Amino acid sequence: MPTFPGNSARAVADSQLRFNLRKATHTIRGKRAGVVAELPDWMELRAAGKAIKDHTLRNLDRYLLQLERSVTEAGGHVHWAADAAEANRIVADLIKATGETEVVKVKSIATQEIGLNEALREEGITAYETDLAELIVQLGDDWPSHILVPAIHRNRAEIREIFLNHMAEWGRPAPEGLSDDPRALAEAARLHLRERFLATKVAVSGANFMVAETGTMVVLESEGNGRMCLTLPETLISIVGIEKVVPTWRDLEVFLQLLPRSSTGERMNPYTSTWTGVTPGDGPKEFHLVLLDNGRTDVLADEVGRQALRCIRCSACLNVCPVYERAGGHAYGSVYPGPIGAILTPQLRGMASPLDASLPYASSLCGACYDVCPVAIDIPTVLVHLRAKAPHPTAERAGMRAASWALGRADRLARLQRLASRLRRLVPRRRLPGPGAAWTDTRDIPPIPAESFRDWWDRTEGGTR
Ligand code: SF4
Repeated sequence: MPTFPGNSARAVADSQLRFNLRKATHTIRGKRAGVVAELPDWMELRAAGKAIKDHTLRNLDRYLLQLERSVTEAGGHVHWAADAAEANRIVADLIKATGETEVVKVKSIATQEIGLNEALREEGITAYETDLAELIVQLGDDWPSHILVPAIHRNRAEIREIFLNHMAEWGRPAPEGLSDDPRALAEAARLHLRERFLATKVAVSGANFMVAETGTMVVLESEGNGRMCLTLPETLISIVGIEKVVPTWRDLEVFLQLLPRSSTGERMNPYTSTWTGVTPGDGPKEFHLVLLDNGRTDVLADEVGRQALRCIRCSACLNVCPVYERAGGHAYGSVYPGPIGAILTPQLRGMASPLDASLPYASSLCGACYDVCPVAIDIPTVLVHLRAKAPHPTAERAGMRAASWALGRADRLARLQRLASRLRRLVPRRRLPGPGAAWTDTRDIPPIPAESFRDWWDRTEGGTR
């Protein structure tokens, strides 16, 4: 895939996309600001969220083992997956063991991260997305572009077209004469999904949190589709990143305040589903938890970068980011777009590809993401940290080595400054040649003075002569 600058150049040229993104992100960010301002102790809550996550990550081994014990005691089964291939294999085998070939899914970025739908398709299993935005993405053979609103790049006229053209391929067709009225679109999705919920015996979910003390999974959602997936099927498989564990229900309470206000701009979440193992006569008869590493322990080993694992996927950083607002989510080439994607993706996937190496530069370092982050992830600091680790072009490395040599000794620098002053008429005034040309596209080259400050100081004795 091309680098971030290449992808974003195409996105910026799409005026419809820019309009859709601006309208949606500004609406959500305004709602968030309003409900956050209502809480006088927001900063204390934020500090508590950060402290809980840091404590949990420092003791992750202990809490994961406690979680495993709790889930097992409650009648669930725990599986450990080191990477995407292992997670996909475990899930496919579990589904095959039920004899089913169809599953319904609750919105889950972890399953997108591991390419679960594609892996299941190879095994002859069809996964049906049930979140409205994910349904739009799936029917449109598209790719999510926002953590909270995966189809944020689509407007309602486009959604109507997708429903009319593709719903029938996946089940109940869209009603004839469907309009682009939001209520009509929601009703079409509801009718389409209801049949699927009632007919499917296996569900796949992620989880926003896992409570170690009781082995409880927690899913927050706004449409009720998650509740249907989590209660109706006979078998439930949850794939969850290992960083999603919290020690106790008391800790969970902090995040149940932070997350809805930061994500949808609501005071509390419309549907908060919790389940602990299995309960005879109530809900799924079988529950499997797949604990996913897939690069997370590598992130944990980085003292600066590990704070990215505090993320609760609220998407507040996306909604305030001036780069995301113009480039959109697809430019990041990952299921994690925006500022959090710019620090998480290169850590999870490494920076071997040009795209992943370009992501730490997908930011103006304005710091708006840090200000709104409910768990105080210092995204600008991590970006700078990753830029230092990213592979750099040969010309840039040579330039930095030359600068290091020139700035390493005062007498050497003084001699070079004198030389530069003498040769200053040869320096281009507008555009540097070669690899520096792009840098001067949007910057002026400062004029080289006839005399350096040091020489002026020596000559005038600090301006006294
Ligand atoms: S980095 Fe912070 S603001 Fe961004 S999605 Fe994660 S928790 Fe939310």
